[in-house]
Amino acid sequence: MERIIGIDLGTTNSCVAVVEAGSPQVIPNKGGYKTTPSAVAITDSGRRLVGQMAKRQAITNAEHTVYAAKRLIGRKWDSSEVRHCIETCPYEIIQGPHDDARIKLRGKEYSLPEISSIILQEMKIVAEDFLGEEPEKAVVTVPAYFNDNQRKATKDAGRIAGLDIIRIINEPTAAALAYGFGKDLDATVAIYDLGGGTFDISILDIHEGVFDVLSTAGDTFLGGEDFDARIIEHLAFEFAREHRVDLRNDQMALQRLRDAAEKAKIELSSMDETEISLPFIHSMDNGEALHLQTTLSREKFEELVIDLVQRTIKICQATLQESGLEVEDIDDVILVGGMTRMPRIQQDVADYFGKPPSKQVHPDEAVALGAAVQGDALVEGRGDVLLLDVTPHSLGLMVHGGGFEVLIEANSTIPTSHSHIFTTVRDGQTSVKIVVLQGESERAEQNELLGEFVLSGLRHAPAGEVEIEVTFEISADGIVSVHATDMETGKKQSITVTATSGLTEDEIEAMISENEDYLVELKRSEELESQRDRIRKSIREVEKLLANGGADTDLVAKLKDRAADVVAGARNCLDSGDADSLASAGEDLEKLLQSVRAAVQSI
Ligand code: AMP
Repeated sequence: MERIIGIDLGTTNSCVAVVEAGSPQVIPNKGGYKTTPSAVAITDSGRRLVGQMAKRQAITNAEHTVYAAKRLIGRKWDSSEVRHCIETCPYEIIQGPHDDARIKLRGKEYSLPEISSIILQEMKIVAEDFLGEEPEKAVVTVPAYFNDNQRKATKDAGRIAGLDIIRIINEPTAAALAYGFGKDLDATVAIYDLGGGTFDISILDIHEGVFDVLSTAGDTFLGGEDFDARIIEHLAFEFAREHRVDLRNDQMALQRLRDAAEKAKIELSSMDETEISLPFIHSMDNGEALHLQTTLSREKFEELVIDLVQRTIKICQATLQESGLEVEDIDDVILVGGMTRMPRIQQDVADYFGKPPSKQVHPDEAVALGAAVQGDALVEGRGDVLLLDVTPHSLGLMVHGGGFEVLIEANSTIPTSHSHIFTTVRDGQTSVKIVVLQGESERAEQNELLGEFVLSGLRHAPAGEVEIEVTFEISADGIVSVHATDMETGKKQSITVTATSGLTEDEIEAMISENEDYLVELKRSEELESQRDRIRKSIREVEKLLANGGADTDLVAKLKDRAADVVAGARNCLDSGDADSLASAGEDLEKLLQSVRAAVQSI
């Protein structure tokens, strides 16, 4: 039976779920945890570490450990978000070939989809261990406010990981699916989703199994990371005032500060005050060690971040207005994302909506569960969940003079399409350049450039005579595509939207094969390591049996001579990377071991 997994690819943590026997459930990882840190590291030997393993070594390998990569995916190199990350991240962010950002780890450049693919692959393995077979298809969630470039980049990540992302759905919508699963609801709900890196708010109407998104809004650069950053700034500022040392210049100290800030933030969700203790955080030129020892109160923390909380409430106001509803029309408010455990957020959301938020969904698990529900509904033959989502951004074109003409308004239900007729403006004009943008500004250059293309080969004719119909489509994934038809001949023009960021098809193919090679090599080295382990174990057993073998009979003496040779040979092989010689050393040892066991038993 085909099973489609649901993956919440989060900024801080990721989670995978599947529908089993009709009910969605989260799949724990090998460590028994239901979420896996979205961290990737490359060790000095070139090995990839993912999840908890990567997070654990972040302090000592800060420059080669990537966290919060989702904040960079699908972004332009010259964007303010990339600039912000360059200033604050310990890993090196460099300019990619398509105006994109890339990350350099141990001398090798990684695109953002590649980094995300490593996390997706880990989640795929978590699911595979549970299902007993390799999952091929997945529904993956993204922040509702992700634009086309960010969505495409996420889909590319799936391809590199060998996972067919059959549908991308918005995180708050997924949470609503989890909330409404198995209930016969007739309600209007608001989903407030504040995670590690992004904020989304969606208003949905749930009625007779139809999940109809009325409006959505958000900020793809507002989340737990920003709350942590305020604590880091505060601690670094206080430390600099006392010791005249800026801890942020030292990557290891900064990583320790980062961990301590997040821990303090989490503790302040349940306590009024927390201790922050970072001994030996800096050593002076004269050898004197400096320690960071302080307390942070919930009140002070709230003061440091209150503008961030208020920003989320302003976005709630805007999206409610967009949906044409009043706060009284909202039946239930659902909180999703780890940051919503912060009491001040719960309070401010309750104050704004005039009711306490529902506790019915798990803030860390709801999104993956909803993705699994959608995946299950997409399996052929089933389909009792109908999802009507919206596009978060307006789609349009650059027009003469640098203006922006909207073709599909923000909050239009998807999938949707819009056609536009282009005519030539000059006599004899044989080509038209079309610039596709997404955003809300009236000025083209302030919106996100999705791509540009040239319609060429037009008939030589007076201005205005040649007509080309161009159709812009937004799929159920929120992804844009474009087709053109020559109105005169009915001939379809195929249009390739030049990738303005992200990856070309050739690059994706190369990354897929590089990833496959890496996995083959990884499997080979894991097999060699387990062969080595077996040899070491056999050597220990032979030596132990012969040492404790009791009487020194002739047989035992002979075996000791033979053992010395076989063990020496096996030890020589241990350093080799050659599977065949390890296998033959293993066989020799096994034969020896059988003889030794028999000899010792016969005494
Ligand atoms: P998510 O992306 O939903 O996994 O949310 C992760 C964010 O939630 C991170 O910034 C965490 O530090 C934050 N977080 C997790 N637990 C808590 C808590 N108890 N109080 C405040 N923030 C938390």
